[in-house]
Amino acid sequence: MGKRMNSEALGKFYNGGRTKVRREWRGLADTWFDYKCWVKTWGMLFKFLFNLQNLKGFLRYRWMLNYIATPDFLDRCNEGLRGKQLRLSHMEFGFIVKELMRSLTFMFKADQNIGGSKALSDKMVIMDENMMEEIMFGFPNLYFMCPQVAGVFALCAVSQNSQIRYIDKAEEFGITGDVCAMPKSELGLCIEDDTLDIGKCMLHCNTTCDTSLMGNGIEDWRYRKPSFAIAASEHIEDELVLEYAVDEIKAAIRFVEEQTGEKWDWDAYFRNMRVLNEQTRIFLEILEINKTPYPQVPENVINLYRDIYYTRMLNADGESYLEIDRKIREIMYEGYKNKELVCTEIRHRALIWGVQGEFYTAFPNWLLNCWGIVGITHMLSLTSTKIYADTDTPENREQAMYDLADLYVNMIMRNRSEGGFRLGVDDVWRFCEEFKMDMIVMCEQIACKALTGWHGIYEEEAAKRGIHVVWVPHALLDPRKASRQNMRDQVNRYMRTVLGEKPLDPSLEYIEDDNAW
Ligand code: SF4
Repeated sequence: MGKRMNSEALGKFYNGGRTKVRREWRGLADTWFDYKCWVKTWGMLFKFLFNLQNLKGFLRYRWMLNYIATPDFLDRCNEGLRGKQLRLSHMEFGFIVKELMRSLTFMFKADQNIGGSKALSDKMVIMDENMMEEIMFGFPNLYFMCPQVAGVFALCAVSQNSQIRYIDKAEEFGITGDVCAMPKSELGLCIEDDTLDIGKCMLHCNTTCDTSLMGNGIEDWRYRKPSFAIAASEHIEDELVLEYAVDEIKAAIRFVEEQTGEKWDWDAYFRNMRVLNEQTRIFLEILEINKTPYPQVPENVINLYRDIYYTRMLNADGESYLEIDRKIREIMYEGYKNKELVCTEIRHRALIWGVQGEFYTAFPNWLLNCWGIVGITHMLSLTSTKIYADTDTPENREQAMYDLADLYVNMIMRNRSEGGFRLGVDDVWRFCEEFKMDMIVMCEQIACKALTGWHGIYEEEAAKRGIHVVWVPHALLDPRKASRQNMRDQVNRYMRTVLGEKPLDPSLEYIEDDNAW
């Protein structure tokens, strides 16, 4: 119990009854800081509910109740952290919660199901949750919103059982059990009439994969709005394919212009692109520091934040992301200069590959606390790190369409899991070498066919290179197929039997956290 990491057994907080027995004691300064953040989160939630339109939304949508678990979600993600790591984690996760509340408030204002403003709703374009929303950069007077983030993606991270009802509904509707839980949840939400009624029109995509495309097709039936599906081939390294994707992007822009009466604005596009480029440069600096023996921004603090800003799925203003990014960079360099370790002992530097279990966002944090396995970087962070055209010239106007197409085909999940052998397999070994990683924690989404199909190849190639591969099966949004403890057991078994190691914190090997939402 104290200032240092691992100074108390974290497993004793879970007794299978209450979510947690008590709050963690982290020394005076860190406990006080963490407590202030906890109070601030409750403050945000109360402020959110203290708005009539939000209250109506809270009573209209059954999934809203799950947001009460938000403080628990943050506690799980910050567990065991101290000093700079605690600050970084609160900064990034706190930002996500704040933006989520802001975006929900904004959507409820326009929601026709609860008497929202029709004029505002007509200024909105609905987008798929996995879709790159950078296309909105050129439409400063429109709002590209993604109701699925609030009802599915972010919600499952907050509350692990939130999607079960919707997955079951999609299966009753006729979708088979081995289909990915993500499109199934989205579809279940539609069947249950639990989707917000906003937007003038919709933009769909075949991102991330064909399973998603299936879900979108059926969702169209529910929304009954004019829609356009951007369909780009998954052979993303083929230049001819990019030409095709460019045509799709141009057609999507035309569609939005026709439906909303708005015109594409080049000034706004390039201004927003400059912000994204600066964020990318900062992210590249983070990756460089993570290559050293003193990584400062590990996966347990950055993964969700990077997913969200890369896709712009919360429709947040780019400048507010940038403010956070600059602070992250400052803290990172300070920690690096002082040679600070992110955990008591970095025993393994791991690449977290595959799509992670959304219902267990705190898994990389557990790896670090229990076994000293530091997630140096992860698959979803390793999307595009290109710098795109950001000044307004005639050539750049044409280039911009290629840039948007490139971002689109390099969408999160898609480029690595569906983009072919080089991106999904070969790059793994390149990253292991560059970042000096000795372990791969392979998050095996059991319904994600491409990555699952490469199982044997990963094993063989890793064995040749002397890299440890720990397989962690899960079902993305469905904790019934593999629970959090099932995921931990895979790691525990590998560490004890194959590597013969003892945990940094043995109390965390088995914890009863089913009640931790
Ligand atoms: S996890 Fe796999 S199957 Fe599911 S949406 Fe992502 S790429 Fe598609």
